[in-house]
Amino acid sequence: MGLYTTEAVVVGYRDLGEADRILTLFSPERGKIHAVARGVRRPRSPLMAGTQLFSYSKFLLVEGRNLDSVSQCEIKESFFKIREDLDRMAYGSYFAELLRISTRECDKSEELFRFFIKALYLLQVWEDLQFMARIFELKLMAIQGYAPQIFYCVNCGNRKFKEIWFSSILGGILCEKCKSNDKKAVQILRETLVMMRRMLKGKFEDLVGLKLEESLKKELKTVLIDFVLHHIERKPRTLSFIEDIVKISDK
Ligand SMILES: [Zn+2]
Repeated sequence: MGLYTTEAVVVGYRDLGEADRILTLFSPERGKIHAVARGVRRPRSPLMAGTQLFSYSKFLLVEGRNLDSVSQCEIKESFFKIREDLDRMAYGSYFAELLRISTRECDKSEELFRFFIKALYLLQVWEDLQFMARIFELKLMAIQGYAPQIFYCVNCGNRKFKEIWFSSILGGILCEKCKSNDKKAVQILRETLVMMRRMLKGKFEDLVGLKLEESLKKELKTVLIDFVLHHIERKPRTLSFIEDIVKISDK
C-alpha cells in the first residue's frame, strides 16, 4: 500500500465509530478523495486542526483497499472565520456541497481547486453573501464546462434583443422570436444580463464590494439556482439550510 502527499481542502466529513471521521478532501492532483482520519475526535489528536471543515492542509495519506487514511497533516490555512459565523458557515457549507455533488471521484482539476480556495478567502470578508453565492454558482459551472450562453441567443445567434429570456434547459438566453423553444424560459431584465456577463467574465475578487438592488439579486437567484439545479442530480441540503436562516433573520 502506497503513501502519497497532496495539498487538499476538507469539503465534507461524517463521523465514524467513537473517535474517527471520514473526510471528503478535494485535491488539485487527485480531485475528490475519501479518507479516514483515525482518532481525530479525541482531545489533542494531532490531526484535529488540519481536518476541520474548510481546512486547507498538506496531507500524508496511505492508500487503502477501500478507503485511504490520513497519516499526517500540516495546516496551511484554517479559515476559522468561516466556521465562527453562522451565515458564512452556511454559505461555505453550500459551496462545499456544490463542489462535492458536481464532481466525480478522481475528477482532478487544479483550476477548480484554486477557485475553491479563493472562494474561501473571499467568504471570510464578503458582505453580501447572497450575491457571492450567485457568482460562485456561475463560475463553478463555467469552470466545469457548463457556462450558460449569455452573449447571444442560444437558439438563433441573435445578439440584439427586444426581450431577453433565460432557459436553464437550453443553457442560455433566448430572444423574443425563440422564447417559445422552452416553455419554462423566464424573462429577465437587461441589467440582470449585464450583471451575469460581468460575473462570468470578471475576476471573483473584483466583484467584492458591489452593491446590488434587491430586485436584481432576486432575479439572479431565480435564474442561477434553477440553472445549477438543472446540472446537478439533487437539490443541495445546505441550500434549504440557507433558506431557513434567511427566514429566521427576516422575522
Ligand atoms: Zn433567437
